[in-house]
Amino acid sequence: MTQPPAPDPAASTGPARGPAPRPIATGIDADAAWAAFEARDRSADGRFVVAVATTGIYCKPSCPARHPNRTNVSFYPDAETARAAGFRACLRCTPDSLGRDRTAVAQAIAAIEACGETIPLDALARTVGYAPHHFHRLFRRATGVTPAAYARGLRSARAADALSRETRVTDAIYDAGYAAPSRFYADAGARLGMPPSVWTRGGRGVTIRWTIAPTSLGPLLIAATETGLCRVAFDEDADALATRFPNATILPGDTALTALAARVVASVESPDRHHDLPLDVRGTAFQEAVWQALARIPAGETRTYTQLAATAGNPAAVRAAGSACGANPVAILIPCHRAQRSDGTLGGYAYGLDRKRALLAKEIGADARSPTASS
Ligand SMILES: [Zn+2]
Repeated sequence: MTQPPAPDPAASTGPARGPAPRPIATGIDADAAWAAFEARDRSADGRFVVAVATTGIYCKPSCPARHPNRTNVSFYPDAETARAAGFRACLRCTPDSLGRDRTAVAQAIAAIEACGETIPLDALARTVGYAPHHFHRLFRRATGVTPAAYARGLRSARAADALSRETRVTDAIYDAGYAAPSRFYADAGARLGMPPSVWTRGGRGVTIRWTIAPTSLGPLLIAATETGLCRVAFDEDADALATRFPNATILPGDTALTALAARVVASVESPDRHHDLPLDVRGTAFQEAVWQALARIPAGETRTYTQLAATAGNPAAVRAAGSACGANPVAILIPCHRAQRSDGTLGGYAYGLDRKRALLAKEIGADARSPTASS
């Protein structure tokens, strides 16, 4: 049900310069729309337009112009219906350009996907008829990433996809649009603890040491290769580790692991504190992009799966972003507990929602205890 806005006395008594506001907009909640308009929320652009009775114009929700009185405002699902009701487009926020912007971004994505390589920004902008700087901002606003990052993410995803099918790693790399294998390894080295050849063999030849440490949230399995931590998980044991890494040599922990485990436990007790623990994790390129996005969320804050998908370079892959959080091999160290659903609910957590809630509470509590920490 849509609440009709309060009647505007000026519209019936004074000489109306525009059409009178009237309740419309199937599917638009007037309070939510007004809140978005007041906040100049860019993410609401394209979902509705705001028509102002006293001026006779309609605006994007994010219009930077001074706001009219709420009683003079009505909401329309799009520019067409607002125009049909007699309103004109605002010259300041040019609400009609939205459709054109959308088309340009979609065209650019199609061009990047067809090309398989990074297209220089100038060329990309020219293709869609925009100035480079403006288009860069537009693209970023629409997708959450720059065109170059989008191309990189796409290339990584293709390489990972091909790696899981191809027997010859080099073929997979060329197929994914990398100029040369060295370039791929340079990219992958930053993401992967293991080189792709080891990855495709299921970790054969790798030694993993493990221990189980008590924490305030329960017993925690901590396992590491020579390179770094490869598994941190509640309620798991060495058998689970052997199932996960069938080709690796699995051994009990040594003194080096004991020292590492102590630092992991400290991270569980104070998840708000930054850690620089070495990780040796592997996933698909998209999963790793999501894990990196998680690692950049400040303690005490959360991001939605939608935001994570966009940051990871594939805004449409919301469900895959959720799966990537679920596939996180190192609990807390990659803070997948900071991911939640768009509606503000917690979503899932591999180790139970109680633990997720407890971790977030620890982070927020830490902030509350030191309110001056950032100043
Ligand atoms: Zn405007």
